[in-house]
Amino acid sequence: MPFAKLGLSTPLVQAITELGYNTPTPIQEQAIPAILSGNDLIATAQTGTGKTAAFVLPLLERFSTAGTLRGKRIRALILVPTRELAVQVEASVAQYAKHTRLTSMAMYGGVDTEAQKERLIAGVDILVATPGRLLDLAHQRALHFDELKVLVLDEADRMVDMGFGDDIKKIIDRLPETRQNLLFSATITDDVRALAYDFSDSKMTDLADEINISPNVRAAANIKQWLITVDKDTKSALLSHLINEQAWDQALIFTEKKHNAAKLVAQLEKRGIKADSIHGGRSQAMREMILAQFKTGELKYLVATGVAARGLDIGELSRVVNYDLPFQPEEYIHRIGRTGRAGASGEAISLVDISDFKNLCAIERRLKNTIERKEIADFPVRKAVPASNLNYVKNSNR
Ligand code: AMP
Repeated sequence: MPFAKLGLSTPLVQAITELGYNTPTPIQEQAIPAILSGNDLIATAQTGTGKTAAFVLPLLERFSTAGTLRGKRIRALILVPTRELAVQVEASVAQYAKHTRLTSMAMYGGVDTEAQKERLIAGVDILVATPGRLLDLAHQRALHFDELKVLVLDEADRMVDMGFGDDIKKIIDRLPETRQNLLFSATITDDVRALAYDFSDSKMTDLADEINISPNVRAAANIKQWLITVDKDTKSALLSHLINEQAWDQALIFTEKKHNAAKLVAQLEKRGIKADSIHGGRSQAMREMILAQFKTGELKYLVATGVAARGLDIGELSRVVNYDLPFQPEEYIHRIGRTGRAGASGEAISLVDISDFKNLCAIERRLKNTIERKEIADFPVRKAVPASNLNYVKNSNR
């Protein structure tokens, strides 16, 4: 089905055609008409499914005929969990709005507030913001919500996990009661549903449309997943070996903690492999610079914590490595979703030591299949990881 059939007008269709989008993805096919009809929406979709365009395009369509916006006002607020995602989503808004007069802005912490305040003076049609900075500027009366028509919570599960629940409630308290609410989340946990119920007294309850785009279907189709069992003390040597022996062109490597990220960069560099890291402890300017280098290919190996890498869309990323296995199965699915985006193929490799066994079982149970194991002859394992058990229930054994 072509985009125009979904109810989008020429300036938008032209912009996305120029970006090479010919056919709507499943989430776009379902969400665009639902959002255009003005309904509230709860959608389950991970990044990589085309969900950003699924909510941005109908917003732009809806506002294309709107009147003049007053100063310090916004028409739509898109809340996102991280600075990187704010930058990325706003860049998509700007691309899709290219042939319209609609304006957009990314607002996030870690940078000076003055430039953001100045930008708000003329009003902004679509504001993409992280919760903390938004509240800060709202307190300072740098923006007002009386003309807001639509609220979008993007990656709602992640925002809840990161402890933004209270900030989001405070923001919602400031918004006009009559508005459209859209919630996108990789998973709809009880906490996410509770947040949806808090959206307002009458909305986002049984009235909302629900769309489910299963992340596993996509993950299974084009991302090759495998794991290597290893001893903890040989992990960095094994990773260096893989990078060199398999001549990896590129890898996004996840660690659990920021000090692990910095340590791994140092270990790789000792073996002559140039890498860099992004994590919560680095300045925003530094994170943006390193990410830009990774995107252009100038930097080949990027070590990142899950939070810092959340939602990143790195064009042709061919490989993701779980140097540390994540504690949450959902996080595993998010991470491997960094590769194989928009239908391209990719591989996801996890290094698993005996202490990861419980997490591995939980992940495989969530995937509903075991991950193929490989052994590397130069790295025999002293502490073997037991065979996978799909019936394993993580919490009951704690
Ligand atoms: P998202 O899930 O929003 O992070 O989008 C993932 C990637 O898919 C982005 O690089 C988009 O530019 C791309 N994309 C979104 N919609 C389409 C489409 N209909 N056709 C081709 N690529 C798309």
